Amino acid sequence: MGEFELIRHYFQQHSAESTPASVLLGVGDDAALLQPPAGEALAVSVDTLVSGVHFPDDAPAEEIAQRALRVNLSDLAAMGATPLWFTLALTLPEASDDWLRDFSRGLFEVAEAYGISLVGGDTTKGPLTITVQVMGSVAPGLALRRDGASAGDYVLVTHTLGDSAAGLASLQGRLEKAVSEDVSAYLQERYWRPTPRLEAAAQLAGIASAALDISDGLLADLGHICAASDLSAELFIEELPLSPALQNATSQDQARQWALTGGDDYELCFTVPESRMPELGALIGTGALQATVVGRLGTGSGVHCTLHGEPYDSQQSGYTHF
Ligand code: ADP
Ligand code: MG
Repeated sequence: MGEFELIRHYFQQHSAESTPASVLLGVGDDAALLQPPAGEALAVSVDTLVSGVHFPDDAPAEEIAQRALRVNLSDLAAMGATPLWFTLALTLPEASDDWLRDFSRGLFEVAEAYGISLVGGDTTKGPLTITVQVMGSVAPGLALRRDGASAGDYVLVTHTLGDSAAGLASLQGRLEKAVSEDVSAYLQERYWRPTPRLEAAAQLAGIASAALDISDGLLADLGHICAASDLSAELFIEELPLSPALQNATSQDQARQWALTGGDDYELCFTVPESRMPELGALIGTGALQATVVGRLGTGSGVHCTLHGEPYDSQQSGYTHF
């Protein structure tokens, strides 16, 4: 199959089936023609996944596609933006039909689930690399930026942390404990198919003062909010939300370490002024939002961890980084 037949068969036909009105012209021409919603800002983000660096060399094609699009959608969620369109630059060592079929199935499954349309891309030969660029829209005043936080704001995270690092350890046979199939399946799914927190982000518009998605671990990513907002943070280690599966799979110390530095969770870390905490509490109370207070911002700089009020050195907690 030649390059153009490949594009037509695996990407163009499928994307044409679900083209929304905002796509005036999609895959197939020199450029796509897109119509953003009137008055909204365009949120644009790109992420590259390299085989052997961002996922194991022997990863299934469907999971690579799932992960590539999901991590990009997470960036739109972290900005408070609604997904609209994406492009795909694909570098392949060979044009394998089986691989492309599985990859495009995974890709369009996610695209349909989150209402985002493939509008173009590029296909080249070389070491397996997947670049996805996502575009979404957000009212300019409601974008969830990193630089809007103030001293005294609470720090929260959605759902649970550390699952993805445990999932990768499970995939690579590095878990220290034997776990049930249910537990390893849950953790591995958290690694391969992170959930972009678009619904949570929609609830946070007008409430959160700053937000980002946790790709490098809470410690590093909260550091980005602190740096952008010119503040410090205290992180309450005993409050870190850890899933039952994670606690089942490893020691408390290791679980906390993964939650802090494991990365790949794609949960949201966001800050909320004290005055908006009642509204936020109501969202959590009704089950509309799953989030946990894990810290508080102050003046100064850097992220400082405490365990029940005592200083906690995340680097000396008994775990050596892999
Ligand atoms: P050009 O030479 O003008 O850059 P290409 O041959 O790269 O055109 O691509 C032809 C058309 O196919 C373009 O509309 C491009 O957006 C689309 N395309 C190429 N590769 C992909 C892909 N992997 N996924 C989706 N669309 C693609
Ligand atoms: Mg091209």
